[in-house]
Amino acid sequence: MNNKENLKTIVLWWLGTFIALILIIFNTIFYELLKSSFYTRVQNSLSIVSHQVKEEFIPINSQRIVTIPQQLEFPISPVMIAVLGAKKMKIIAKTVVFLDIKMYPYLKSDENFFIVKSKKYGKIAIYISRIISPIKGYIVVATPMQKVDIKLEDIFIKMIILNPILLLLLLLGANVILDRILNPIKEITKTANDICIGKLDKTLPVPTQNDEIQELVKAFNSMVIRLKSGIEMMERFNSDVSHELKTPLTVLKGELEIALRKDRDIEYYKNTIKTALNEVNYLIDMVEEMLIFTKLDSEANKNENIKVDEMVLNLLSKFSKKAKLKNINIEIKKLDMCELHTNPILLQTTFVNIIDNAIKYTPENKNIYIFLINKDKEIEFIVEDEGIGISKEDIKNITDRFYRSELSRNREIKGFGLGLSIVKKCLEILNGDIFIESELNKGTKIKIVIKK
Ligand code: ADP
Repeated sequence: MNNKENLKTIVLWWLGTFIALILIIFNTIFYELLKSSFYTRVQNSLSIVSHQVKEEFIPINSQRIVTIPQQLEFPISPVMIAVLGAKKMKIIAKTVVFLDIKMYPYLKSDENFFIVKSKKYGKIAIYISRIISPIKGYIVVATPMQKVDIKLEDIFIKMIILNPILLLLLLLGANVILDRILNPIKEITKTANDICIGKLDKTLPVPTQNDEIQELVKAFNSMVIRLKSGIEMMERFNSDVSHELKTPLTVLKGELEIALRKDRDIEYYKNTIKTALNEVNYLIDMVEEMLIFTKLDSEANKNENIKVDEMVLNLLSKFSKKAKLKNINIEIKKLDMCELHTNPILLQTTFVNIIDNAIKYTPENKNIYIFLINKDKEIEFIVEDEGIGISKEDIKNITDRFYRSELSRNREIKGFGLGLSIVKKCLEILNGDIFIESELNKGTKIKIVIKK
């Protein structure tokens, strides 16, 4: 048995129950209003008859019978009329046919309109009016309610038949609308089920109507695109990493194989072990730098208030020893006081990589200039060096993972090509930007802009 709850059935069930309830309430009120309006009309008609009788037939004729002449047009017929005396409440005159019930309780009541049950005539409407001249008494006008009740019954039956038809039509309409709403959702489910790592090129056709479904489809498609680009990035990272690890590992393997091929002297083995150790250290450094990458995302949202000028000063004092080794002069050109609510680790990682590169790619006895500018909506951190510079073609690529310019590789400056890609990733999280200007053999200016 399929226990899966069907959204359409649930919606139709609740909608049906709700509409049925509304119809019952609405029809009950309508029926009661109609009934009361019918009764009021009967009451009015009886009051008119009573008035006419009072005006035209009293005093009563010699046979003491109130006759109802044909020329009078009564709003309702048939009518039964009686005139009762005030003292003994006995009938003085009446139409040929009159009620078979005791009138006493009704004559004493303050009301003048009653619906009563008579054995002979069934449900009867009675209207009583008092007279004081020429005799003291009452005029009682009555009429059977049969016609009114038949009419009401007729309307009730029609309502009983029409309401389920109306309910059915409404549910059919709701069914069509629900199909229109749910079909795209079914389509999304089908596509979502089809999507797997290897099949991320599937997107849904965007409906033309600008509504929630269109929004859902757009959100779904953009999620698939983001997923695809994320997976592509992971794949690229994997292939980059394997590629970068392969070279030192091949060197290591080659060295060890050659050493094992025949017996060597101690000196040879020592040299081989030294080379192997160098390659292992290189691999460890590279893996460590790659690990920084994976940790960056977990840093997001760990924000605090940071005095950026203090952070810059702190870092520069840490780098001063490294700069001194190459006799590089680091000059702070501008250091505005500024506070930022941001992530300290990511901000520091960004600054460290930029300062470290400037020192790394600047020859001995040159200058590096530092600027920290506090603007209205952003802060700017600028590092300007007099280093080897970057060619125009390389500028486009240097923030890519493992990318190193020909120049830096030729000069055997150590590095894995990961620093600027780490900076790029940090800035994505920090809502910042990097701008690079450079001229070969003249120097490089790197500007970091972070929105406040
Ligand atoms: P790494 O410095 O480890 O190679 P980075 O990602 O930090 O990796 O830098 C990528 C490349 O960008 C470097 O290899 C170098 O060619 C170039 N580069 C970065 N900063 C500078 C700079 N200040 N001067 C000249 N070249 C630079």
